[in-house]
Amino acid sequence: MRQYQQIKEEHPGTILLFRVGDFYETFSDDAVTISRELGITLTRRNNAGDQTPLAGFPYHALESYLPRLVKKGYRVAVCDQSEDPAQAKAAGRKLVNREITEVVTPGATLSDKVLDRNRNNYIASVHPSGKVYGLAYADISTGEFAVAELPQKELQNVLESLAPSEILIGKKHKQTIPQWLNEYVVTWQEDWIYEGNYGYDVLLEHFKTHSLKGFGVEELAEAHVSAGALLHYVRENQRASLGHLRTMHAFENSAYMMLDASTKRNLELITSLQQGGSEGTLISILDETGTPMGGRMLRKWLMRPLTKLPDIRNRLQAVEVLYIRHDMRQQFREILKDIGDLERLVSRVCVKRANARELKQLNESLGRIPDLKKLLSDFEEPLLSEINSQLSVPDDLQERLEAALVDDPPAGLRDGGFIRDGYSKELDELREIASSGKEFIARIQKEMVERTQIPSLKLGYNKVFGYYIEVTNAHKDKVPDDFIRKQTLVNAERYITPELKEIEEKILSSEERSQTLEQELFQELLDYVAGFAEPVQNNADALARLDCLQSLAEVAYRYNYVKPSVTDGTEIDISGGRHPVVERFLPQGEPFIPNDVRVDSESDQILVITGPNMAGKSIILRQTGLIVLLAQTGSFVPAKKARISIVDKIFTRVGASDNLAAGESTFLVEMNEAANILNNASPKSLILLDEIGRGTSTFDGLSIAWSLAEYLHNQPAVAAKTLFATHYHELNELENLYERIVNYNVQVKEHKGKIIFLRKLIKGGADHSYGIQVAAMAGLPELVIHRAREILGNLESHSLDVTRSSGTLEKGTSAEKEAGAKKKAAREAVRKTEKQSAVPQMSLFQAELDPN
Ligand code: ADP
Repeated sequence: MRQYQQIKEEHPGTILLFRVGDFYETFSDDAVTISRELGITLTRRNNAGDQTPLAGFPYHALESYLPRLVKKGYRVAVCDQSEDPAQAKAAGRKLVNREITEVVTPGATLSDKVLDRNRNNYIASVHPSGKVYGLAYADISTGEFAVAELPQKELQNVLESLAPSEILIGKKHKQTIPQWLNEYVVTWQEDWIYEGNYGYDVLLEHFKTHSLKGFGVEELAEAHVSAGALLHYVRENQRASLGHLRTMHAFENSAYMMLDASTKRNLELITSLQQGGSEGTLISILDETGTPMGGRMLRKWLMRPLTKLPDIRNRLQAVEVLYIRHDMRQQFREILKDIGDLERLVSRVCVKRANARELKQLNESLGRIPDLKKLLSDFEEPLLSEINSQLSVPDDLQERLEAALVDDPPAGLRDGGFIRDGYSKELDELREIASSGKEFIARIQKEMVERTQIPSLKLGYNKVFGYYIEVTNAHKDKVPDDFIRKQTLVNAERYITPELKEIEEKILSSEERSQTLEQELFQELLDYVAGFAEPVQNNADALARLDCLQSLAEVAYRYNYVKPSVTDGTEIDISGGRHPVVERFLPQGEPFIPNDVRVDSESDQILVITGPNMAGKSIILRQTGLIVLLAQTGSFVPAKKARISIVDKIFTRVGASDNLAAGESTFLVEMNEAANILNNASPKSLILLDEIGRGTSTFDGLSIAWSLAEYLHNQPAVAAKTLFATHYHELNELENLYERIVNYNVQVKEHKGKIIFLRKLIKGGADHSYGIQVAAMAGLPELVIHRAREILGNLESHSLDVTRSSGTLEKGTSAEKEAGAKKKAAREAVRKTEKQSAVPQMSLFQAELDPN
């Protein structure tokens, strides 16, 4: 227990798995934790009054239990016996030596069981410094490593898209970091790691450079601190060189479209709203990649669409030829399917965790590249040519691996048998001795049978006696004198001879030596392959890009997408647009109704879309967002025709009741998101507002929705293209008041008191909201529906007119004429002030609503 305590204290904040014989044991709080998390029985030591809680599992269960703990966010230290108990005994010690062999944490792991093949597993390191945050992030399993200095808002955004499984922060910031950071798995580090030049020095030492100028990050001092701390942490835990982290780049936020958190969530790009899984997400439709690195890259592409026209056009052009050349694409797909996870394989090589099978897989994957290059040489598109020249297999590496490894190596490295004959002269000789020794044994047996005339005489082998001669009791009397008896069985005797022992010695020692030699050769081979980390990573990157492009082309072909025309203009013009996910999941026989959407910052900037609940408003908003996002990813889009002007940011705000955040007022969440939009949108943005103001009373909601629309229209700095879905048909009035606001509605037909959804977006406003009809369809009792109709009739005879100056709920009186004139005047007034600031218009509007 003293040994345990000492090791435990050296690794605070981790669960310590302590090897005792055939078990991994945990004690005290660790025992309570693992018994709860893994469903393992909790017992007590019960040793001379010691009641320490104890929980353990057999050593071979480590493979399944360890990943489960890590996935739940725990850091786990594995402590093994570092010597054979016999050794300790021989040295007169009662206690075997133990040491930590690995610390596995959610962000720093290379275990296949923890990693998801299609997802990057990032670890981030954050260093708060005044207004900026130094950020570094890495995927240890692939070798990606980047840094940035960002204000809090951008940091939050970048971390949201990286979704790191662990974040490192200095202890002293525990009380002061923003609340949202605490929602990640945070590992608090010692503060000295962040002090002085430590971080910078760690980086120079790691990259073996004199400065960081070559990476273009020399000026990012706060980011050096974070990056150094990250390397420090990973090195401590992995206990291995991190040669595969061979470069570092500055994360360039502006080259990508910004998607705010609620957009990523609501457009269900990677995870779905309902189950949090991948069912019903855009990626589930789009991912036709064949390689794991392609799958990971496609996710990155979707989370970070491009904003530079030439880049987008290059991708689209490549997707187009791959789309057209259907047969070629199938050939690419066939080959890519055979290619393994080069990024992760080479990472495992660099930290010396790869086995012979993995090296073989690396080699076989590289071996498919020449075929791809041959196919690629048929294409002249810039991106495909670039990929072709980036793909280049280091011949030396292939030859060496080919020569070194047998065709079908065993999984384990312990028993040898993976190095090919002819690779090492010394190994060949040892093997020769071992195998000729075995032949020799067979010859001796034959000779002995002849000499002794015992036909059933056999030579055998066991661990206790080594080689022995076995003679059944029937022939006991024929045994010659030079046989030395070793063991008596029920119906046989076992003997040895000096000659037999001599040969045995030779065979065994050469076998043992050959196994050791194989392992040495293998380590050498790993070092050699690790030297190729850079070219292998470059090939992996090119393969991933090719894989993404063919995947986009395949999806376009399967589901009838078209190539969008992407421009630097002001309009988004989609004909026959569809929702890529909903169209795939409609109940059988129900067709998806395509819709046209045209929005233009210069003429039709804000579309007010009305229609009852369930009409299809929200689908139109989402599909528009998705089509723009796909186009800027370089993908074809689900439409008949699409012209897309480049968008810098997409914002989404969906109805409060669709997005219940636990514990927070839904209305407050909604207003926070709306504020975020108004503070960050630009004229190049696309805003999707679905039922803004639903989380509060009708008057409040309507007023807020109204003034928001005015603001977006009148403030040039935020005059973004906006789709504004609402069931407040009162907002239709805005069209009359503002130049660039246009009314649309999703068509429904009323038939015998029921409504039929036509799902067609047409110009013009809706005159009422059909709420009662929808309620009837949902099966509310007839009595309730009937009474509701009555009440509605009453309410409707009180007009709610936002442009009236007073008495909005007053019944129409003789003052109506006067009010009508006032309304006209008010409209005039609003029109006149349109080009001015929004404030006077807002107050005008409020004054009109307010009966006082
Ligand atoms: P709203 O936002 O108007 O309340 P939704 O956009 O959520 O309505 O649409 C409601 C349902 O109608 C969707 O879940 C979908 O099943 C169906 N739907 C919507 N648009 C279409 C369409 N264009 N074609 C076919 N079905 C649609």
